[in-house]
Amino acid sequence: MIINLAYIIACVLFILGIKNLNKPSTARKGNMLAALGVLIAVVAVFFENDVVQSWNADNFMQNGYVWIIIALVIGSIIGLIWSKKVKMTGMPELVALYNGFGGLASALVAFVQFLQAPEGNDAIASVAIGIAIFIGALAFSGSMLAWGKLSEKITGRAIVFKGQNALNLLLLLVVIATIVIYALPGIDSSIRFTAIIVLSAVSLVFGITFVLPIGGGDMPVVISLINSFTGLAVAAAGFIISNTVLIVAGCLVGASGTILTLIMCKAMNRSVGNLLFSGFGAVDSGSGKGPGAEPKSISAEDAYLILEAAQSVVFIPGYGMAVAQAQHVVKELAEKLEANGAEVNYAVHPVAGRMPGHMNVLLAEADIPYEQLKTMDDMNPVMPTQDVAIVIGANDVVNPAAETDPSSPIYGMPIIKAYQARTVFVLKRGKGRGFSGIENELFSMPNTLMIYGDAKGTISSLSGEFNAE
Ligand code: NDP
Repeated sequence: MIINLAYIIACVLFILGIKNLNKPSTARKGNMLAALGVLIAVVAVFFENDVVQSWNADNFMQNGYVWIIIALVIGSIIGLIWSKKVKMTGMPELVALYNGFGGLASALVAFVQFLQAPEGNDAIASVAIGIAIFIGALAFSGSMLAWGKLSEKITGRAIVFKGQNALNLLLLLVVIATIVIYALPGIDSSIRFTAIIVLSAVSLVFGITFVLPIGGGDMPVVISLINSFTGLAVAAAGFIISNTVLIVAGCLVGASGTILTLIMCKAMNRSVGNLLFSGFGAVDSGSGKGPGAEPKSISAEDAYLILEAAQSVVFIPGYGMAVAQAQHVVKELAEKLEANGAEVNYAVHPVAGRMPGHMNVLLAEADIPYEQLKTMDDMNPVMPTQDVAIVIGANDVVNPAAETDPSSPIYGMPIIKAYQARTVFVLKRGKGRGFSGIENELFSMPNTLMIYGDAKGTISSLSGEFNAE
């Protein structure tokens, strides 16, 4: 009774947590509420019947408590060290890893349940075990591959080979067959054992072949898709061991991951069907238009003269702002521009950076007023009225090829129309390409001026010019 009450409180806290994550101003509180929910759920496990009954004063290592505490200590230490060490730009990789381990844990819960009942469970429980192993293993190997791609341990590009879809279909058929064999009543236990081993191995391979053909600008979608898979695996594991909190938490992650996938698909202008079956994101870095004319560059001192006269300025942040950690100096510059009479806004693209909400997190960290954060849909219609657009380490999300070049791999992706501003400053270190590896003709447009250098240094110099006034 008390345990169930604790689980209900945990679930309510998860839901309140997600609700609070909805707004930057309450996001921190949302995170704390959800973490409190996890704490309550973990403490409640100590009072579960199985754990209480495992108490054995003679054989210490048979106690459930001991194993839970060992797992808690190891997990907490690794989590603490990783979270402290990770740089903001490394967050997406860390999220991919956490996600993968969530999938692995669910698959292991299901596997243990299978080992504990070699004579077989009822058909529904067996199907749930099969599904948890399949989705959990897929989410694990898929996340590991996504981690490798994001951290550039392996090429971030799409790897496509002939017969990829046929292979995936074949693997899926094997998965279904093994789950059916495992769940059928009266099947010999050695055959059931073989079915589960084959299911585990094929699911791991499926995770790899699923993520392999995805790369370039499509990675955000696959990350949120795998995230929702992990939620489903957790829910299936909760169903197997009759744990309400796992079922609710898993469903919440599954549903929110699915919603995020749909939002991302919209932001990338892809349908879910296209996403699942077209070997999506098959980026050919050779395609896309060439660089065109040589970009014009300008010094921070000269750029200041244009900025000083500007009445409206929009900052367009991208991955390079995260690399440079320029958000605090951006705020400083914005304050000086406002003091000088300019109206300042920030145009945030949904897939700017390397994880959903990446730019919002950075800008919130610098206490940028929320009302100045504008979505792409809010900002694009007024872009032609902006005196200056300052593109800070963004590339793909402002690339006009998405609108003009049908051969471009990002063709059709909505972009922030920076090129429509009267003057565009692009802050980047050199000729580096964006995540999708293509050229950007914005840089050589007549109204664009490049300011080369690390974004933090450049913004500080611009800001310094206002002081020198
Ligand atoms: P991009 O990756 O397209 O471009 C980043 C640019 O920043 C580079 O051209 C680089 O040029 C510049 N840069 C890097 N370091 C610095 C620095 N210290 N100072 C100044 N500039 C720097 O970024 P966008 O945000 O425009 O686009 C995000 C891309 O990532 C999209 O393709 C998106 O699909 C993808 N993606 C997004 C995810 C998400 O969830 N948001 C997840 C995974 C991928 P240079 O080297 O010359 O400095």
